[in-house]
Order: sequence, then C-alpha cells, then structure tokens
Amino acid sequence: MNYPVLCYRPGCGQPAIYKVAARWSDGVTQELKTYALSCAGCLAAQFRKSREKRSACRLAAGETLEAPGVYELARGQRDAALVRRPDLESQLTESFPSS
Ligand SMILES: [Zn+2]
Repeated sequence: MNYPVLCYRPGCGQPAIYKVAARWSDGVTQELKTYALSCAGCLAAQFRKSREKRSACRLAAGETLEAPGVYELARGQRDAALVRRPDLESQLTESFPSS
C-alpha cells in the first residue's frame, strides 16, 4: 500500500516533497545519508538544521561527508537517481543569517 511520506517537522503533517541528504563515504562504500524529509514550507528551516547537524558531526579517519543538499523526493526512486536542486540550496543558503 502506498502511503504519503510526511514532512519531518513536528506538527507539520504535510506530504514531503524534498529530501535533505548528504553523500557519505568511507572510501569503500558510499551512501546518501538522509537528514530530513520536508514539504516546501519547512524546507528552509530543515535545511538549516541539517547543515548545523552536519557541522557538529565528527567523522572517523577515512570518512567523508558532504554538506547536506536538497533533493527532489520521488517515490520508488533509488537514492542515486534523485535529482539534486543546487538552485534551491543557494537560495536557502543566502537566506541564512551570516555567521
Ligand atoms: Zn513541513
């Protein structure tokens, strides 16, 4: 049975249409590490939170983790086939308070 994937933001309840994820690798295997699933309205907040989490993340020797990016969430699509949205990422990054 198909059920909608919901936005991760507590209390939102909207279907998620974006995935915030970062490519992780230990040099041998590579995977897309999901930080959040989001509706359009919560994307800015969840993207910011994911980037904060990313900077707090400590990696073991040999591991690499990219900064989280925004991907279009498509049902039944494998991670490798997800469409990345750098345009949205830069829009969202520009709206961050400079630190
Ligand atoms: Zn939401």
